[in-house]
Amino acid sequence: MDYKSEMQQLREKLNEAGYRYYVLDDPTMDDYEYDRLLRRLEELEAAHPEEITPDSPTQRVGGAALDSFTQVRHPVPLESLQDVFSPEEVEEFAQRMAETLETVEYSVEPKVDGLSVALEYRDGLFVQGATRGDGQTGEDVTENLRTIKSIPMTLPDKLPRLIVRGEVFMPKNVFHKLNRQREENGEPLFANPRNAAAGSLRQLDPKICAKRLLDIRVFNLQLADGRAFSTHGEAIDYISSQGFQTIPHKLLKTAEEVNAEIRRLGGGREELPFDMDGAVVKVNSLQDRSVVGSTAKCPRWAIAYKYPPEQKPSKVLDIVVQVGRTGVLTPKVVVEPVRLAGTTVTNATLHNQDFIDEKDIRIGDTVVLQKAGEIIPEVVAVLKDLRPEGTEAYQFPAVCPVCGAPVVRDEDGAAIRCTGAECPAQLHRNITHFASRDAMDIDGMGPAVIGQLIGKGLVKTPADLYFLTTDQLAGLDRMGQKSAQNAAAAIAASKDRGLERLLYALGIRQVGQKAGKILAARFGTLDALSQATEEELTAIGDIGGVTASYIRSWLDSPQSRHLLARLREAGVRMDAAQQAAGEQFKGMTFVLTGTLEQFTRDEAAALIEGRGGKASGSVSKKTTYVVAGENAGSKLRKAAELGIPVLTEAEFAAMLEQ
Ligand code: AMP
Repeated sequence: MDYKSEMQQLREKLNEAGYRYYVLDDPTMDDYEYDRLLRRLEELEAAHPEEITPDSPTQRVGGAALDSFTQVRHPVPLESLQDVFSPEEVEEFAQRMAETLETVEYSVEPKVDGLSVALEYRDGLFVQGATRGDGQTGEDVTENLRTIKSIPMTLPDKLPRLIVRGEVFMPKNVFHKLNRQREENGEPLFANPRNAAAGSLRQLDPKICAKRLLDIRVFNLQLADGRAFSTHGEAIDYISSQGFQTIPHKLLKTAEEVNAEIRRLGGGREELPFDMDGAVVKVNSLQDRSVVGSTAKCPRWAIAYKYPPEQKPSKVLDIVVQVGRTGVLTPKVVVEPVRLAGTTVTNATLHNQDFIDEKDIRIGDTVVLQKAGEIIPEVVAVLKDLRPEGTEAYQFPAVCPVCGAPVVRDEDGAAIRCTGAECPAQLHRNITHFASRDAMDIDGMGPAVIGQLIGKGLVKTPADLYFLTTDQLAGLDRMGQKSAQNAAAAIAASKDRGLERLLYALGIRQVGQKAGKILAARFGTLDALSQATEEELTAIGDIGGVTASYIRSWLDSPQSRHLLARLREAGVRMDAAQQAAGEQFKGMTFVLTGTLEQFTRDEAAALIEGRGGKASGSVSKKTTYVVAGENAGSKLRKAAELGIPVLTEAEFAAMLEQ
């Protein structure tokens, strides 16, 4: 067989197996065989890259990252739904329909709590996917949608054009796993699966989206050239026949039946792989729909019933305070275990002292817990009638429960912080953060290994990592000689990550990856940064006054100086990592204004372009820097309006030299 036919056959076999697995949940090929065929296809594609087709299963892992998303106009708007909150309102809706329509049939279906997208196919091939945006215009997230395995890349029917609408979600089990990982890595947690799905679908790098294992359920046919349907139900059946996972629907006649179905769906929420935030009731006949029509934003022929958040009482066994990586003390109640919206709840956040005071929550109280859209349960009320005798108002501890250092209240809010520079609670998180992938990226230095190193007293600051011997590493549990050597090599390799990552790794308050990048680009070396005054830091534009003061006081504290000195002694690099000359300004847009002394405008533009940047004539939100020479005018004003950082000619010249 020639390679073209073989590739074609492999694609078909693999796509069929994927459909059985991801859409029908009825696998017909074992993983081993699937991987073997996929590998063969990859080999052939590597040898004949010109033969890679967009429907190849290899294209689902995520291609090159984008700089930004382009806008897409929806040919058929993605409408919103009118919410209702009670069975009576459902009846009123049915009455309204009965006034205009003779006999009405309703489709009742779960409302998947995710993000709406439109998927477009031309001649049976997936060509574009876009978010809902404002309903008229959304963002092109085609590459991210390709990574969702239950979206078919080709359809059996080759209609000239077909657009379906569905809801993208993160399956609950994937969400919990992702948050567990993020917690271990000291990264901020996602509040709920919807936020996690939204964050994933809006990743510019499809490889990240691919790892998030999103899924989809299709619930509407937006447009089908050359096919006509008389009901929603028929259209959905057609969509299913084309290989999509659709949202199940039930066809019913009366308001009573509809309300009963809504109750039934509500009772089955726990078993679903997605979060369900309501039930949708729609008129089934498409003819009837056009009779009833739409308002500016919502169809009149449908409503979304929103279930009230589930609430349950439970007894407060204790109030405990946790200390986070940034030293913030967060109180939470420990309650008698109670089943709430699908999970067993044993504790709930209390946010801060003010929240406890306001509600007057005491140990021994019975509180009402609720899980609304958020995954973390909250206390909505205290049942004061049930309060036992002899309880006392809760007093926040005056010292850190972990290290005993005094705590202080933030000047700008209700947060209370531990002041202990070597507080073990923060140390584990600090070092985990320091070693994490986006920071110093030390392979093999996960939370468990770091926990052991701290437990044995081998590390007390991140710098201590660089003084560990291979023997010390080999002495850890589950660490053989070989993996100890690998860990030592990974630690040594991380010395070269450069200033940008180092600044982020240090965990200075409010200095994230972006600020690390900006500071490294602006100052080039840690020494230069250490000399900077607060004013100079604020003048960068993207660094606010509060952040500038955090940076300055961090740099000034004796503990930090000690830490930096030890890092330096270990040979950790404190200047910006080498970048390929052509990449320095990659993804950046500069606008030149006023008269420059050292170069003409054209020269400056050529220098920017030579480093991979763009020189543009007008200031917009996309502008990275405005370079202002003498007598700069309106562009400077525009930059100030949009908050775009402005560089002097000297600063620009210094950047070019880096
Ligand atoms: P809302 O965002 O509250 O206006 O609710 C409308 C949204 O619910 C739509 O934009 C869809 O994204 C989503 N949705 C989820 N499941 C369904 C469904 N079965 N039918 C219609 N819309 C749904």
